[in-house]
Amino acid sequence: MKKLLILPGDGIGPEVTKQCIKIIDFFNNQPDSKIEYEEDLFGGASIDHNGKPLNDIVLNKALDADAVLLGAVGGPKWENLDHELKPESGLLKLRKKLQTYANLRPGKVFKSLSDASSLKPEVLKDTDIFVVRELTGGIYFGEPRFSKKVDGKRVASNPLVYNEEEIVRVAKVAFDIARKRKNKVTSLDKANVLEVMQLWRDVVSEVHSKNYQDIELEHLYIDNAAMQVIKRPSSFDVILASNLFGDIISDEVAELTGSLGMLPSASVGENKAIYEPVHGSAPDIAGQNIANPIAAILSLSMMYKYSFNLDNVSNIIEQAVANTLDSGLRTKDIGSNNQKILNCNEMGDSILNNIKKIF
Ligand code: NAD
Repeated sequence: MKKLLILPGDGIGPEVTKQCIKIIDFFNNQPDSKIEYEEDLFGGASIDHNGKPLNDIVLNKALDADAVLLGAVGGPKWENLDHELKPESGLLKLRKKLQTYANLRPGKVFKSLSDASSLKPEVLKDTDIFVVRELTGGIYFGEPRFSKKVDGKRVASNPLVYNEEEIVRVAKVAFDIARKRKNKVTSLDKANVLEVMQLWRDVVSEVHSKNYQDIELEHLYIDNAAMQVIKRPSSFDVILASNLFGDIISDEVAELTGSLGMLPSASVGENKAIYEPVHGSAPDIAGQNIANPIAAILSLSMMYKYSFNLDNVSNIIEQAVANTLDSGLRTKDIGSNNQKILNCNEMGDSILNNIKKIF
């Protein structure tokens, strides 16, 4: 049976992952969608108990699992610890040890929330973008990196380097995901001025012509892409980008959807993946049962699709979220005066009820 490790973490992390567990328990009682799961301590909660944000026992459980579902880590209580003892360093260590080289960030605009975005609803209509960002190479890791004085002037450098293997593996992730969606990949580069980005374009085209000719492939320069995403967001399906360009474009896409409480994500490697909401531990609202659990629930939906190949379960969860929002139910962060505001538990229960109705 497939194995899942759940690490609720700190702040609102446990509150939002609790809503995911209700959904997992429901699907575990149905034939063909059972997964084995266990929970453990991570981040500040682990520091308080074990003195470290990620201890070896939990790390080994993560290495042994098919997927990890995270809540969030961090908070003021642990802010002044040394860097390697901080909750966030546990997160970086986990990503490194699981070798997750592709970051997945969907930006789906739910119809009933289209007025929460800074774009006009008619421009946003049907927008459902999925950014695949290379996560372990490129300019953030290029060597030699330095900041020093040369001939009395300050100079700093971060080289942008990719080898073809790094491009091939992340391109395959993007094409495979496009096959589960609308069969289109837009690859971003700056091939007109950078050799490394010409390599990116060439390798993506080679991967495409070898194994993915059924997928439509579009190449865009990053500067043009930044405009097109705002101008014609609904024409995009999967966007494939290097570490730096992906970092920027995924936040641009996030802004289209309106709220941090709605954004799921995943970091995937060879047969390993970490699913987590984009938001942090939100210490300002922690313990009040008012957090929006939808980002965590949509991360769970991604897990069923991309780690467990249970597309039907994933689609039911997404549809249940859409139906819940369509019926006017909101948490505080996405609500307005004339809507019914639910707390975190109630939102989790409403989505679960809609799952049961669809099932
Ligand atoms: P944050 O995402 O925790 O919160 C930013 C704002 O958004 C806050 O006002 C918060 O109340 C609101 N918010 C976030 N998620 C929400 C939700 N689900 N429902 C309703 N409102 C929500 O970012 P921050 O305040 O910059 O960071 C707080 C802590 O979280 C820090 O310790 C930071 O290091 C950590 N953090 C962790 C992760 C992670 O675990 N992956 C990511 C980002 C930040």
